[in-house]
Amino acid sequence: MLSKKMQQAINEQIAYEFYSAYLYLAMSAHFETQNLKGFAAWMRKKFAEEQTHAMKFFDYVNDRGGKVELGSIPQPPSAWRTHLAVFEQSLEHERSVTHRIHKLYELALAEKDYATQSMLKWFIDEQVEEEKTVAEVIEQLKLIDTRGSAILMLDHRLAESAEKE
Ligand code: MG
Repeated sequence: MLSKKMQQAINEQIAYEFYSAYLYLAMSAHFETQNLKGFAAWMRKKFAEEQTHAMKFFDYVNDRGGKVELGSIPQPPSAWRTHLAVFEQSLEHERSVTHRIHKLYELALAEKDYATQSMLKWFIDEQVEEEKTVAEVIEQLKLIDTRGSAILMLDHRLAESAEKE
């Protein structure tokens, strides 16, 4: 059985993962209005990924005989001034997710909850990947600045990467 404290912390994380999904969906909608279909598809793929993260925690609580209680999901922003600002917010958000995952791990350590520690290791590795991927796009956006042709090339590249598994 999960401790009440661990269960509550994971339930909060479920809502936060859904907020992540919602944030990326808002970013996808933003890029749709800019006619950047590749950027929009890339964000939409992140939206789907974040939902699988939420469901991993959801299934884990059930597998451990706990009870899922869903919290509310805040409204995400709907507009950004630049393409770069969108990805910078995405990186800032991923860093906050990493911090939360680490806090969950610290709680699992303190409670000697080995199963939860093991489950969280997947998320710890995943966050390294998430931050790296977003940081790479930020570096590219900084290089190309606001040149339209280069933005379109990146749009094509993101479209391709969104199509990959
Ligand atoms: Mg996530």
